[in-house]
Amino acid sequence: MTEIELWSKASEAEAPRLTEIRRHLHQHPELGFEEFETSKLVIRELESLEMDVHTGYAKGTGVVAILRGTAPGADAKDARAVALRADMDGLPILEESGLPYASKVSGKMHACGHDGHTTTLLGAAKVLSKNRARLKGTVVFCFQPAEENGGGGRYMVEEGALENPKCSAAFALHGIPSLPLGHVGVKSGPSHAASDGFRILIRGRGGHGAAPHMTIDPIVLGARVVEALQSVVSREVNPLESAVVTIGAIHAGVARNVIPDTLEMLGTIRSLKDDVRRKVQAAVKRTAEGICLAGGATADVEIRDGYPVMVNDPAAAKFVLDVARESLGGEKVREIAAPTMGGEDFGYFLQKVPGAMFRLGVATRENYPSLHNPGFDFSDAAIPVGVALFCRIAERYLRDGLLS
Ligand SMILES: [Zn+2]
Ligand SMILES: [Zn+2]
Repeated sequence: MTEIELWSKASEAEAPRLTEIRRHLHQHPELGFEEFETSKLVIRELESLEMDVHTGYAKGTGVVAILRGTAPGADAKDARAVALRADMDGLPILEESGLPYASKVSGKMHACGHDGHTTTLLGAAKVLSKNRARLKGTVVFCFQPAEENGGGGRYMVEEGALENPKCSAAFALHGIPSLPLGHVGVKSGPSHAASDGFRILIRGRGGHGAAPHMTIDPIVLGARVVEALQSVVSREVNPLESAVVTIGAIHAGVARNVIPDTLEMLGTIRSLKDDVRRKVQAAVKRTAEGICLAGGATADVEIRDGYPVMVNDPAAAKFVLDVARESLGGEKVREIAAPTMGGEDFGYFLQKVPGAMFRLGVATRENYPSLHNPGFDFSDAAIPVGVALFCRIAERYLRDGLLS
């Protein structure tokens, strides 16, 4: 049996139990930093595998499990350690999939497929633990909370998930409905955008809707600010670079004949390069403040740095592409040309060590529901494919590093 057959057979053998786990997680989604039951399930599964399991990371629900290989050289001083990471949180979305195992928690659902990521990493832990004699080093399994909102990955990294043993690479996957089931895509270099949040509070002076001259109307100024922000990307960012400014929420006023005192708007800035990021942040602040000043109001502009750009190391991306091509055949594997402006907090891991996130196709038909759609479901049939890839990535990396 070849190495490839071994991992894919072992992964397939776990598939029925993994499907059960995935559907259980799907029915019981938990939001960021509240993955208490999910974390317990992960710990229970890992503890049956004879690994060192460390709990309590990232405000409580993060889990790190360490599997020491027993291949010759695994305990040598220069033996490698590699991190494999999954996220565990769901989203505040009311599920409308109509599936028999749909969410049992009204208003919460695994609409980003993190139930599939968690299950796939558990599968890799099961298969690799049974094959530790093939591992010439250590695998560190990182189960993190709060990818969607809260940056659980940052806490994991800051709390030393990659330090003991010291990992020299990290890998992760994300299920994706734009690729057919079991296909793999990897973007080399910048893969996901930096995502920053901002809040603009316009302070005017309220009064009677019939006497606007006695007021400073924050709604008219807010409308101007929204309109002017559309020029930040189109007029201030180099057309060959990428950025997004989106206002996602506006709150002001209660009655049709009352001019309110204040208006609040919330938005997001996405970018792929640090200089563009800083330029757009400054332009948003200057634009809002300047327009409000001209209208006699003030604007308090708060911009908070969110996730960093997630950059797949080119050598690690090539390594994953090679492993995937050997395992699945070239026609199922593609290099993705363009990054997405979505954010991904695996970027915190990749700021620390080289590595890559690959995208694993979950679409079983045309027009498969997108991520964050109330109809999305991570296809169970993708799980053994992900498990086998994680296993081969770990085995090969521990043996040869990123060489291929
Ligand atoms: Zn998501
Ligand atoms: Zn996600």
